[in-house]
Amino acid sequence: MRTPSPPSDIIAVFPALAGHERTTTRLHPAPGAPTASESSIGGPLWWPADEPWPHARGRYEIDRSRPAGSRQVQGPPVPLLAGVQLWVRDVPELPHPDGIDLLQILWDSSDEVDAFDSAGFRTAGPDDVFRVVWRRAADVVEVLTDQPRQTEAQFILDTYVPVPCVLNPERVVEYPPSWVLGEEFAAEVDARDKELGTCYGWEHTYADGTKIGGWPADSGVGGPYYEAFRCECGAGLEAFLTLASTEVAHNERTTTTTYYRPAESEPHEECSQPTGLVFGRWTHLQLFYCPASWDHPIQRFEM
Ligand SMILES: [Zn+2]
Repeated sequence: MRTPSPPSDIIAVFPALAGHERTTTRLHPAPGAPTASESSIGGPLWWPADEPWPHARGRYEIDRSRPAGSRQVQGPPVPLLAGVQLWVRDVPELPHPDGIDLLQILWDSSDEVDAFDSAGFRTAGPDDVFRVVWRRAADVVEVLTDQPRQTEAQFILDTYVPVPCVLNPERVVEYPPSWVLGEEFAAEVDARDKELGTCYGWEHTYADGTKIGGWPADSGVGGPYYEAFRCECGAGLEAFLTLASTEVAHNERTTTTTYYRPAESEPHEECSQPTGLVFGRWTHLQLFYCPASWDHPIQRFEM
């Protein structure tokens, strides 16, 4: 699982992109049987046996013993799903607080994970459906062996339940989507793409799929909206982790592509869904962090 090189020298075609290179780490998830001591999506977590497992509020159930109209009652709390576990030794480029060597992310099988907030933009602060946990692995004396799982009756949407995957990190240099450099540049890229029959505005500049850092995923979020990616403290948010609904297959049919499928191909031929996760309309759950302080919340956007 290696990303083919760009078909030509992007900087030669668009000199304005020089200096905007970023290295991202594509995680290339693949179904497998990860253990708690490995990085994974949907695998068991390196979780202390003596620490409570996080739960979301319970599902609403019908209590037939009550009179009609008052039958809806809240059931018991539901354990969050093990979403992502990243050991810093596997992905040293993962932005992380000093002294920390393990990231764990848990979430509920609920569309609140990537739902619109009240401002109409897809983001949310910390809440009971999505939890980011930092750890020092050595602090875990005994690992919880029988880890809580949601039962099928507790699933709201199984598209939020990850297939256990091992990860195959790969470092790739990528460039920003054209709108990041302003409308004028985006228009220039569009014009060149039409002239050359290329896709530099999108597919040939930044890496698709599940990845760390680099440039955030983009499914059409325009330039002015980039200002929305700000922490409450005023600092610009930085790309942290991109969770993708699809990965590029990079099989023999995609040898002419760089980071993304060729525009003329059928998506289903070129993409795979190893994690089984579907965010938004087959888009991405993009996590951002605030570079000013790790005490400021990790934010998430569907994009
Ligand atoms: Zn901040």
